[in-house]
Amino acid sequence: MKALHTVATGLLPSLCAACGRSCRPGAVVCTRCGRRLATAEPLGGGGPPGLDRCWSSAAHEGVARDLVAALKFRSLLPVAALIAARIEWLAPASMLSGAIVPVPTARLRSLSRGFDPAAEIAAALADRTGLEIRLCLARSGAGRQVGRRRAERIGHPPQIQARGRRSPPAPAPCVGPARSG
Ligand SMILES: [Zn+2]
Repeated sequence: MKALHTVATGLLPSLCAACGRSCRPGAVVCTRCGRRLATAEPLGGGGPPGLDRCWSSAAHEGVARDLVAALKFRSLLPVAALIAARIEWLAPASMLSGAIVPVPTARLRSLSRGFDPAAEIAAALADRTGLEIRLCLARSGAGRQVGRRRAERIGHPPQIQARGRRSPPAPAPCVGPARSG
């Protein structure tokens, strides 16, 4: 998938992953979207039960939301590197230690996409930071978050648990751009 994307990238003009307008060759976003993303404030706070805290490099809105959609639904893999760069740039130093643990996408969706967006971001972040990646989480349940209302997403989060764990699954941790509205 990466090789195919690299070939495609070399053949196509550079278009902003967020808005679709022309941008500098090799750039992921245009100047306008880059400026908007630069002004997006990170979010942080307490986590759900089982997590010490949550942090996101941006609210799930505007350019940040468009970039997540570009990665997940249009397979624009260079977006993962941009997100990783933003995380490295803005994350508190205490969060960039230990190991990176991507929360896995549902297996069927990973198979249909040919990649796992969280794993792509984790790999890019590991490249930038030198941190180890640990694939120690498993996802169960087939419920999709896409298309659900916010209350439904919060009320019925994906079930994530440590691999090999037999006790009831823990609620899904809050990762990636935070949902708003
Ligand atoms: Zn743009």
